[in-house]
Formats: sequence, structure tokens, C-alpha cells
Amino acid sequence: RSINRFSTAAAAEELIIPPVQINYTQNLINGQFVDAVSGKTFPTYDPRTGEVIAHVAEGDAEDINRAVAAARKAFDEGPWPRMTAYERSRILLRFADLVEKHSDELAALETWNNGKPYEQAAKSELPLFIRLFHYYAGWADKIHGLTVPADGDYHVQTLHEPIGVAGQIIPWNFPLVMFAWKVGPALACGNTIVLKTAEQTPLTALFVAKLFHEAGLPPGVLNIVSGFGPTAGAALASHMDVDKLAFTGSTDTGKIVLELAARSNLKPVTLELGGKSPFIVCEDADVDKAVELAHFALFFNQGQCCCAGSRTYVHERVHDEFLEKAKARAVRRVVGDPFKKGVEQGPQIDTEQFEKVLRYIRAGIKSNATLECGGDRFGSKGYFIQPTVFSNVQDDMLIAQDEIFGPVQSIFKFKDLDEVIRRANATRYGLAAGVFTRNLDTANTLTRALRAGTVWINCFDVFDAAIPFGGYKMSGIGREKGIYSLNNYLQVKAVITPLKKAAWL
Ligand code: NAD
Repeated sequence: RSINRFSTAAAAEELIIPPVQINYTQNLINGQFVDAVSGKTFPTYDPRTGEVIAHVAEGDAEDINRAVAAARKAFDEGPWPRMTAYERSRILLRFADLVEKHSDELAALETWNNGKPYEQAAKSELPLFIRLFHYYAGWADKIHGLTVPADGDYHVQTLHEPIGVAGQIIPWNFPLVMFAWKVGPALACGNTIVLKTAEQTPLTALFVAKLFHEAGLPPGVLNIVSGFGPTAGAALASHMDVDKLAFTGSTDTGKIVLELAARSNLKPVTLELGGKSPFIVCEDADVDKAVELAHFALFFNQGQCCCAGSRTYVHERVHDEFLEKAKARAVRRVVGDPFKKGVEQGPQIDTEQFEKVLRYIRAGIKSNATLECGGDRFGSKGYFIQPTVFSNVQDDMLIAQDEIFGPVQSIFKFKDLDEVIRRANATRYGLAAGVFTRNLDTANTLTRALRAGTVWINCFDVFDAAIPFGGYKMSGIGREKGIYSLNNYLQVKAVITPLKKAAWL
């Protein structure tokens, strides 16, 4: 059963769109909204319809130069790294309060520009955003170095200093949450920032950056540039005055930015990249519950999650029952206008991703995987795709190896644990894994054996500010969130002082 939200007036009455206006479309540099230096703009779209909703300043290298100059000055001369950590913490908390006040509008703008269900944005992503800023506000005045025992007549201490100007490049699948993962720790540590949003979703970051300034953030501390990857993004990654780069997006682009960083000033880089995460349903699983969780693990956020459980491995003993029920669940998935109550799946982000997902579906069919349901677009406008399930998927098929980033579940059969461990690890990625079992020994064995940065046991997509996230292998470098993220934004300085009068004094 699917809701076709485009058809009836009755359906329209159920829409839950809070009033929201697009007020901020320029770049935010040194505390001011400004046009791009070139004067150029680019359109941003409503993925429900493909219609243009705003024209946004198109930043490129020259805008990045200005933003970096502002961030550099704010770092080298401004109050932000010099004020007490407690004052910084207060500004982060005031900001979180303002976001809370504007939560409904922000969630609506996120849905409008991204297509994710409004209820998901409002009830899960905005609260997580606020939680992240509370968490890092709490860290701001708890960052300190160590005293180090050293042989001889020296007192040795370490200072944990902010690293400087942070360049941050974020993707479109969770525009606000990705903003918080990056900006929260960088500001708590006293850095300044130039952040480039994804070209598909520039709007909510500009809105919250405005709120940050209302909360008392000094000008130049947080600069936001909208624009495209090869122009604005590349300029940021290769800038000589950027001290650290944090990137989330595809593995291919991750390689490019790492190279740009290396070839310019060798700035340290953290990367959150793609995934092809296994979700393993063991023989003792309660099949109904396993079906529901595996469905969520893949279809959440239109399948546009780097950690999506996109390889569903099911033990042969429960495979056939699982498959029937997984298919029925996918058919029941409520696709429609993401502003409507009860809708589980909105449109894909843009025409490029929509076409790409459909290409993978065709590749799956061609490689003789069995198409159980879905397989085509949903409706006739916008970027909606039918929830799709493939069975009989083999490990060497393209749909088993590439990140599809869409609502396409692939179901594999396995016989024993050693086999599934080997197959689950036979991927270039290592972002996450899911395990569904009632057996503690099985859970422990899989947890230790799977090469992934996160293992969810009998749960999936549990994200908290305090839980680190990041990838093994080609899923990335470094960890974000939790205490681990702080190290990305700190330099360690060792300070050595003679305890007695030094010989040369
Ligand atoms: P992308 O990697 O191209 O874009 C991510 C960010 O990088 C955007 O802000 C983009 O403007 C920027 N970028 C692109 N090229 C750049 C360059 N040369 N230099 C500097 N910055 C650059 O991802 P995409 O094209 O939006 O999506 C493609 C695929 O990436 C998806 O299908 C999916 O597989 C993957 N993806 C992963 C994540 C994740 O969270 N890991 C998020 C979005 C997309």
C-alpha cells in the first residue's frame, strides 16, 4: 500500500508542513551574508517535484579564499580561541537553545530541500543535532593536557591547543546532522571553520549559521560557502591556510581531497566515506523481528546512508521465511510526500542519484538476481523509487559490491558462521555491520571478527553524540563523534621546563 500524495485533496489535508521561508541563500563570510564574488547563483530543488525552490550564491575559489582569510583572522587575532572555554561552552548552549526554538521550521526546510520524511527530521534528526551541541558544549571546558613523567630534572606538560582553521566538506544525505558532527567538536576545541555544504542541500546550514551568530559567535569563526565540489570543495581542500580538513562523502571524492590536502600543505585529513555493510541474520533469529530490523537498516533515509545494511545475509534455515516476509514488508512500505504523516519513504535526493539507483536495479536484473518486488520509479514526478528487494544475490554481482545508496535490499543465503564472516569481510569497505541473534557466543564471535568501525547487535543506526563513528579500510580515516572527534581538532604541544637552574643560564 502506497500513498500517492499528488492525487487527492483529502491527502493534502494530512500534510504537516510548518510555515517556513527561505531567508538565507548567500554565503556567510565573516558574520555577513554576501553574494558570490562572481555574482553567480545555482538552483536548489524540491526532490518531491524537481522544481526549483531557491537560487543560492555559487561560491568558488575566490569565495573560499575570502572565507579562509576571515577564519584565519578570527583564529589568529579574534576572541574565539582566547576566551575562556566556559564562555565558548555557553555560546554553544545558547545556539542549541535557539535551534530548539526553531526546530519545526528547520525540520521543514530539511525535508523540503532533501526529501526525507518530516517526522524523521523533526523527531530524530533535530533532537540529535541539539544533543550533539550539548555534548560538545560539555567538552569545551574539559579539554586539557597532561603532566608527563620524564627522567632527569625536567617538568614536562602537554598543552592541547586548537589546530587552527578547519575546512569541512559535508554531503547531502543528513545535511544538519553532518553539520553538527563536524562543527560541534571543532568549535568546542576553539578552532575556526570554513564549511562547504553539499550543492544539493545548502539551505539548513545557512539558517543555523545565522542562529549561531544570534547566540554570540564572533564573526569569522564559522563561515559557510555553498558551491560545487570541483570548484569550491577543491579550493578548500587544497588551501594553504587551512590547517585541517574533514570530509564526508564518496570514497572516490575522498581520495581526491586527500590528494589535494597532501599536495598543498599536508593538512591532516579525516574521511567518512562509503560502505557496503553486512546485516547478518543468524539461524536462531526471531524472523519477524529480524525482517523489521533488516528493513530499517537498509531503507532508512531512502537507503541514502553510508552505513546502510545493504547486504542482508540470512542463514539458510530461516532464509525462505525471511525472504517472503522481507518482500511483504517492502511492499507495505509507505512511499509518498515526506510531509505526510505516516510516510516512511520520500524521494531520492536528485535526478543523478535517482538515475544511478535505477541503473543498479537494471544491473541486478541483468546479472540474474531475482527481483522480488519494486524495480521502478514510484509515481510520475519527483525522484521516488519503489522499495526494491532482490534475492539470489551472489557476492560477485555489481549490486553486491557497489554502494547503491538507494531503497534496494539484496538478500544472500549462508550456511555457517565462518562462511558468513569471510563473505561479510570480502569488501573494500568497513563502515558498519549488523548482527541479529539471541546467542551471546555468536554475537561475540561476529563482533570480534567483522572488520567494521561499528557493529550493531540486535539494533541498527543507533547514533548518539558520545558514540564514535568511522570506517575501516576504504570507508575512511579517523573517527567522528564522542571523545574521539576532539583529537581531530587539537594539536598537542609538549612543554619542557628545567626543574633546577639550567646549566646555560
Ligand atoms: P560526493 O563525494 O561527490 O560529494 C560529497 C561532498 O564532496 C559534496 O559537498 C561535494 O560538493 C564535495 N565534492 C565533490 N567533489 C569534490 C572535489 N573534487 N573536491 C572537493 N569536494 C568535492 O558525493 P555525491 O556525488 O553527492 O554522492 C555520490 C555517492 O557518494 C553516493 O551515491 C554515495 O555512494 C556516496 N555518499 C556517501 C555519503 C556518506 O555519508 N558516506 C554521503 C553522500 C554520498
